[in-house]
Amino acid sequence: MAFTADLHLHSRYAYACSKHLTLANMVAWAKLKGIDLLSSADFTHPAWLAELEENLRPAGDGDYEFDGMRFVLGTELSCVYKQEGRSRRVHLLVFAPDFDTVRGIREMLTGLNSKLNGDGRPTVVASARDLTARLLDIDPACMVIPAHIWTPWYGMLGSKSGFDALDECFGDMAPQIHAVETGLSSDPEMNWRVPALAGKTIVSFSDAHSLPNMGRELTVFQGDAGYRDLAAGLKGNRVEQTIEFFPEEGKYHLSGHRKCGISQTPDETGQTGTRCPKCGRPLTLGVLHRVRELSGDERPFDGGERRPYARLAPLIELLAHTLGRGRATKSVSLAYHRICRELGGEVRVLTQAGFDDLERVGGEALAIAVTKVRAGQVQIVPGFDGQYGTVRPAD
Ligand SMILES: [Zn+2]
Ligand SMILES: [Zn+2]
Repeated sequence: MAFTADLHLHSRYAYACSKHLTLANMVAWAKLKGIDLLSSADFTHPAWLAELEENLRPAGDGDYEFDGMRFVLGTELSCVYKQEGRSRRVHLLVFAPDFDTVRGIREMLTGLNSKLNGDGRPTVVASARDLTARLLDIDPACMVIPAHIWTPWYGMLGSKSGFDALDECFGDMAPQIHAVETGLSSDPEMNWRVPALAGKTIVSFSDAHSLPNMGRELTVFQGDAGYRDLAAGLKGNRVEQTIEFFPEEGKYHLSGHRKCGISQTPDETGQTGTRCPKCGRPLTLGVLHRVRELSGDERPFDGGERRPYARLAPLIELLAHTLGRGRATKSVSLAYHRICRELGGEVRVLTQAGFDDLERVGGEALAIAVTKVRAGQVQIVPGFDGQYGTVRPAD
C-alpha cells in the first residue's frame, strides 16, 4: 500500500492565493491529479476553520474525509524573530491530530499576539525552536516540517536565514524534526550532498497558491492515507518516492538580480562576487549557491536513506507546448481535463501511462513530449531571483 500526499497547500484565506481555493474545488483537482491525501491548510484562520469543522468528517485516528478525499489538519506558520542579533524568518509546516489540538494551537498563538483573522499563513513572533516546543506541549502528536528550506527569505537554510544547520535553528528540538520540505528549486540529489540534513526524511509538496498548481510536487508514502502512516513515514523515512519539478524550474535556483536580467551559476558568482555586475546591488543568492556552500566533500548519505524520485514537467505546460497555445487557454484546459480523466490522473499520465495510451488520448506530440521529459531530455532556462525557470522537451 502507498499513498500520494500534497501537504503544503493554502486556502483562499491565505495572502496571494486564488479565491477559487475552496474545499470542493481542491478535492475536485486532487482527484483530477491523482492525489490521495491533502492538508486542510490554514487551520488557524477563523472563517476557514469554521468551513473545515463543518465539512470534514472524522474518519478515525487523526484522519478526516470530505467528498471521498482524505485530509489531515495542517497549516503553514511564519516565524519572525531575532536570534543572535539577526532577524530570522522561517516558514514551518505544522500538523495536528484533531480539532481540539487545533483550538489549543490557536489559543497559544493568540497568546503570542498573532493575528489569525488576516493571512491564512499567520506570522508568529516566536523562534522556530520555541514554537516547536509549544506545539509539542499542546499535543506530542503534533508534527513540524521546515518548509521550502532553501528559499532565500523564508527557508531554514536559505541565503538570508542565517542558519547553516538544522541544529542552529531548532536547538534541543532538532531531534523532534524528522523531515524537511525541499521546495521547488531543489531536488533530493542536491539535498543528499548536505551533511546538515543527514538522517532527515526528504519530502516535496506543491505550496500551490492556485488549483492547477496543486500536486506539482508530491510525496508518495508507504501505508494508508492518514495521520498515523504519515507520522510513521516522516519518522522512519518510509517514503516510496518524491515527485519533483526540475529544480531549475523553481524561481530561486540560480543566483541573480531580476531587474538587471542577471543570473549566475555558483562558479560565476565565485568569480565576480555576490553583487550584481550591472548595478552593484547584492544578488539574491539562489538555492544552488547555498547547497554548494553547505555541501561536504563526501556524500554523507548512505544508500539506505536515499529514496527514488521522479522529475516531471506539469502536464499543462507540456500541452501548452505541444498545442502551441497559452497555458491559460480553453483548448489547453479542455485537453488537460480530458486526458487526466481518461488516463487516471495527471500523476499517472506523467509517470506511468504507456506511449500508446498517451498517443491515443493526447496525440503523438504529447506522447513524445512526456517520454522525453521522463528521460530527462529537456531544454532548460533556470529560474533566479523570483523568476520561474522554463523546462520544455528537447527538440
Ligand atoms: Zn512558505
Ligand atoms: Zn542589478
